[in-house]
Amino acid sequence: MADILIIEDDRKINELIRRTLSMTGHQGLTAFSGREALSVLERKSADLILLDIGLPDMDGFSLMRQLRAEYRDIPVICVTARDEVPDRVRGLKDGAEDYIVKPFAMEELLARIQVVLRRFCKEQNSFCIRDVEVNLTEGTATRGGKDAGLTNREFALLKILLLNKNIALSRERLLDLAWGMDYYGDDRTVDVHIRRLRQKLGLEEDIRTIFKYGYRLEM
Ligand code: CA
Repeated sequence: MADILIIEDDRKINELIRRTLSMTGHQGLTAFSGREALSVLERKSADLILLDIGLPDMDGFSLMRQLRAEYRDIPVICVTARDEVPDRVRGLKDGAEDYIVKPFAMEELLARIQVVLRRFCKEQNSFCIRDVEVNLTEGTATRGGKDAGLTNREFALLKILLLNKNIALSRERLLDLAWGMDYYGDDRTVDVHIRRLRQKLGLEEDIRTIFKYGYRLEM
């Protein structure tokens, strides 16, 4: 889907992010210092940069200014342990598209990445699975060439599953993402919609139930 440069000196975190990205079809490029990041970018192109502000060899903020100057079309998401408001404001003022504070859930990081990629039109927007074709930009879902007849909510749920394919999402998370944070629903709401999606699309086996947790679209 997208090439994402992970600038993070903590090797464990860097590797964890890289592996999570690869599970969702992204390619993670890794750099463990600011200087290394700049040399990676000289050789390879990236669609998005995850930038840890606390780097060993240079201040993450000055690295970001440099990145914004030289690679203006690559969006940056700041990742940092500092959660003070002034730092957030500074990061955004300096041109970060988004800001995420450690510790964070991988699901949240992935969701933020998707939003930024979508904003920059660097995201895959059509998917095929069995005889189902989905176009997220046009908002269409067909099965065997015919309109699958999804409701808006079913389509929203399908979209979340596709954008997080091969990742288990809890029912709670699905409610948040497909219905919105303010929606007051329960787990059954999700189950009912998943059942309809499976039937309408013939994806009974592809949308897996994760015991006592939620669902995962496997593709
Ligand atoms: Ca660090």
